[in-house]
Amino acid sequence: IVGLLSLCRPGFERECAAELERWLGELGADGYANFEKISGQVIWIGTSPKWPVTRDLVFSRQVIRLLDKKPLYFEARDRITPILTAMAGMKFSAIYLDHPDTNDGKALSDLFERLQRPLLSAAGKQEILDREATMRAHLVFIDGTSAWFGMSEPGQTLRWPMGIPRLKMPADAPSRSTLKLTEAFAYFLSPEEQKEWLREGLTAVDLGACPGGWTWQLVQHGIQVIAIDNGAMNEKLMESGLVEHFKTDGFIYRPKRPVHWLVCDMVEQPARVAELIGDWLADGAAGRAIFNLKLPMKTRLDEVMFCRDLIEGIVKKSGKKLERLEFRQLYHDREEVTGYAAVAVRPE
Ligand code: SAM
Repeated sequence: IVGLLSLCRPGFERECAAELERWLGELGADGYANFEKISGQVIWIGTSPKWPVTRDLVFSRQVIRLLDKKPLYFEARDRITPILTAMAGMKFSAIYLDHPDTNDGKALSDLFERLQRPLLSAAGKQEILDREATMRAHLVFIDGTSAWFGMSEPGQTLRWPMGIPRLKMPADAPSRSTLKLTEAFAYFLSPEEQKEWLREGLTAVDLGACPGGWTWQLVQHGIQVIAIDNGAMNEKLMESGLVEHFKTDGFIYRPKRPVHWLVCDMVEQPARVAELIGDWLADGAAGRAIFNLKLPMKTRLDEVMFCRDLIEGIVKKSGKKLERLEFRQLYHDREEVTGYAAVAVRPE
């Protein structure tokens, strides 16, 4: 392994690179990150005693271990031979074709469709493709004639190709924001946790709820929601009978009884939101929280780390134990990241 390739949201290469350098730097790794602006990817070349996996990082959508410092180059009339030559002597359980999340990258999907079958079939004949192998090959295409060659083990990358979940916008959800919470549940909670924590009989408060995309998502799971926002809630959603709406300030409101979930999508300073989340968990007003932090243009990575420390400090001071505290720039997040925090309590 000669380094890493991270796919990220185009425009966030600086944060992605800084985070990789920080993570690897703490381990005493020796190397450097390289990226082009708005390319949707960062290359880190060097040696390290340990490599991060996608879930260790906030701004990487997918992390691939590079097998070569230079991309593979091939001619349009024969891509398969050079690819198989690079893979000769190795065994992979799958070969993934990836691309950065840019317009140029997306334009490669036709090529992928044409290339996939003949490539897999040729790799099968040469015994490169082997269902029993532990590693999976990744070819991250730069354009039609070059690609980075790397690999991953199951569990090192997200199960969504390129870290992008294809979620369909539900026709009757009040806003597109609903997809952020769908993705957050799918990313942060295992299927078992989803069963335990997203079900009828549980309660939630949604701060900054209007028009109701996040509330709608909770209601789909049968969760009773108190929606806090000065705006107007979607009327059809209110007819579900599971939602109570209070037009009041989300920074002041507290429920009469503790709730299982706090969700918060208020557009506010990240530190202010983080402090609020920390207070709710420390007071026992909620057991777990999913919240969005809208990031300023500069120092976006520092801001996330600052907010993480803030929540950790507040909860620790209360004597409660944090079971989980994670951040992720989800695919549906723009200039923002989503946080998940849970204190160690169980529902009745
Ligand atoms: N999650 C919502 C959805 O899925 O439909 C969208 C929320 S929108 C991005 C942010 C909302 O936060 C706005 O409706 C705004 O009125 C509300 N908001 C901002 N500051 C607030 C505060 N201090 N208290 C309550 N709501 C606030």
